Amino acid sequence: MKLVKDLSALYEAIAAVQELYLPVENKGRVDFKLYEAGANVDIKTLKTVRSAKDFFFTQTETLMGFKVEGKNIEVEDLRPEVRPFVAFGVRGCDARSFEVLDKVFLVDPVDTVYEARRKAGTVVTLACGRPEETCFCTNFGITPEAPAGDVTTWLTEEGLYWQANTDKGEALTAAIAAVFTEGDGKAVEEQKKAISDIIAKLPLANLDMTHLEGVKEETFWGHPVWKDISETCLACGTCTYVCPTCQCYDVRDFDCGNGIERFRCWDSCMYSDFTRMAHGNNRNTQDQRCRQRYLHKLVYFPRRNEGMFGCVGCGRCVAKCPSKLNIVKVIKALGGK
Ligand code: SF4
Ligand code: SF4
Repeated sequence: MKLVKDLSALYEAIAAVQELYLPVENKGRVDFKLYEAGANVDIKTLKTVRSAKDFFFTQTETLMGFKVEGKNIEVEDLRPEVRPFVAFGVRGCDARSFEVLDKVFLVDPVDTVYEARRKAGTVVTLACGRPEETCFCTNFGITPEAPAGDVTTWLTEEGLYWQANTDKGEALTAAIAAVFTEGDGKAVEEQKKAISDIIAKLPLANLDMTHLEGVKEETFWGHPVWKDISETCLACGTCTYVCPTCQCYDVRDFDCGNGIERFRCWDSCMYSDFTRMAHGNNRNTQDQRCRQRYLHKLVYFPRRNEGMFGCVGCGRCVAKCPSKLNIVKVIKALGGK
C-alpha cells in the first residue's frame, strides 16, 4: 500500500502540480487554506471551523456583469477562471456533503459555476483518527474510518497511507509518484478498527431515525418542537453558515461605478428576510423558519433524493449554536430516543 513518510515533501509535490488547499492553523482556528511553504498545516484537528463546501459553493462569487449605454445592455461573463486544485484532508462527513450539494447544483438547470469547480477539484479525504462526541455521521451511512473521495488517506505512526479510488485520484498519484514508498498497511487496518471502537461508544452514534422514514411532508408540521426551539433561537444563522450541506443563497446586482455586477452569496433560511417577496415573506415566524430548516434536511430533501438526508452528522451545529439548539435535539423530539 502506498505510504508517504515525509508530509512536507508530499505537500510540496502536490503544490508543484496543482493548487493545494489543506487545513491550516491560524490563531487557534483551523480552516482550509491555499498551501504555501511554512504554513502551519494541521491535519490532526478533526474538523475545520468552516466546512469544505467552500471549495465548490463559495460564500460569495461574481456571476456576471452588465454594461448599460443608452438602450444597449452588454452582458459580461465575469465567472472566475477555475484551475485544477486538490482539496486535501477532507473528512468523511464533508465528502458526503458534496454528494448532497451535487443533487442541488448538478441537476437541470446545471449550475455551471459549481460544475466547473467540481470538475477541477480532486478530493483527498483523511480518515477520522479520533471522532468526537458531537459526531454522528454513521447514522447516515458514512464511514469515517474509510471516507469516500478521489483518494483516501490514513495518518498513522508510520506516515500517511494513500489509496487512490478514482481516475482523478490515480492521475494525482501518478503525478507525485516520487514521494511514495510501500507499506504493509497493517496500521491502516488497526486504525480502522480503533475508529470503529470509538464510534461505537459515542453518545450520538445510534440515533433512532425510524420515525423519519417515508413520512409525508406535512407529518411534523404541527409538532410542538418548532415553538420550543424557536423561543430560544437567536436567528443568528450560525448553524447554516457552518453547515456543509446548507445551500440557500441570495443573488443581487451591485453598481460598481463602471457597470453592474451580479453576485451570489450564502443566505440563511433562519433569517426573517430570506425569500421575502413584494407581498411579504411566506414564513413569517421563527418557528416556521426553524421547521423549514430541519424538515428540509430530514424529510423534504430525502423524499426528493432517494432517501439521502440533507444532514451528514458533522456535528458543527451541535458545537456552535449559541443557544444549544441543533438537529439532534430535533430528531429526538420528533420521536427518536
Ligand atoms: S445557530 Fe442556533 S440560535 Fe443561531 S440561528 Fe441556528 S438554531 Fe438559531
Ligand atoms: S445540520 Fe448540523 S450536523 Fe447536520 S450537516 Fe449541518 S451542521 Fe452538520
